[in-house]
Amino acid sequence: MLKNARFLTSNTDHRKCPPANKPEFAFIGRSNVGKSSLINMLTNHKHLAKISGKPGKTQLINHFDIDGRWYMVDLPGYGFAKVNKKLKADWDKMIRAYLTGRENLTAVFVLIDSRHSPQKIDLEFIQWCGQLQLPVVLLFTKADKQSHSKTSQNVHQFLDEMEKLFVELPEFFVTSAVTFEGRDELIGFIEENVAE
Ligand code: GDP
Repeated sequence: MLKNARFLTSNTDHRKCPPANKPEFAFIGRSNVGKSSLINMLTNHKHLAKISGKPGKTQLINHFDIDGRWYMVDLPGYGFAKVNKKLKADWDKMIRAYLTGRENLTAVFVLIDSRHSPQKIDLEFIQWCGQLQLPVVLLFTKADKQSHSKTSQNVHQFLDEMEKLFVELPEFFVTSAVTFEGRDELIGFIEENVAE
């Protein structure tokens, strides 16, 4: 169950984030991947996370309190073509410091657009997470946009690429913010990890 979601803080410095006293689940992915929509779908809010206006603009770590039991974190997206070098370097620094410095981080949900065949930028980001030994879980988004078989084909192609990079495949979920596909499964996964 996920009852009450409440915005807490926006930060650039992970040391100023709320106290690391509850399990934390972070969401990250390429701009436009459907991250805000998924966060709103999970929390049953229309506008908890802002549906992207200008992609790549917000460079903030956003914390939400969920039922006083765990933190949901909306991280700024990567791989936006128009972002200049300085912004990219700031993002790298901020995200690396956050991902490696947050001791309560229980899972990093990396969002992948299920409409596409494997994209280099996503594979590179996940490989980077792997090098940092982060607890990556893959969330394939927008599954309602094509047939089940097309989604399945793209997911398996992606997993095949992952197999070349990792000994152990990360867990994954197929989701849609429109049909709510994957919601119960994903909340179930979070609950299991919060309860431990
Ligand atoms: P963000 O930049 O990753 O936060 O992406 P948004 O949540 O703003 O979504 C980008 C665009 O994709 C918006 O136009 C959304 O309405 C659309 N979108 C996001 N998730 C889904 C989904 O599950 N299904 C469909 N059909 N469209 C989606």
